[in-house]
Amino acid sequence: MTGPAPASASDWSVAVDRDQCIGSGICVVYAPDFFTHDDEAKATVIGETGDADLSAVRTAVEACPTGALALLVADTKAADTNAADRKEA
Ligand code: SF4
Repeated sequence: MTGPAPASASDWSVAVDRDQCIGSGICVVYAPDFFTHDDEAKATVIGETGDADLSAVRTAVEACPTGALALLVADTKAADTNAADRKEA
């Protein structure tokens, strides 16, 4: 899967659909600093996006067997446009 690349660590987050999670632990294996299991064996996010290895998180999201994880990337076009405007001024 190829998705949009976040411009910075604050531009993305991960959503966990607890109803879809079967507790396989694959996300924990790929990104142990970002995911863990809670006391119901459901995946939960423990990591901060600023400190996370986005590549590992993306791999974990892609490897989830049930599609319970979603990598959410903010639309940064407005910010990018503003940055370009500032350069021209
Ligand atoms: S890989 Fe998917 S199904 Fe497995 S624990 Fe993580 S979120 Fe749940």
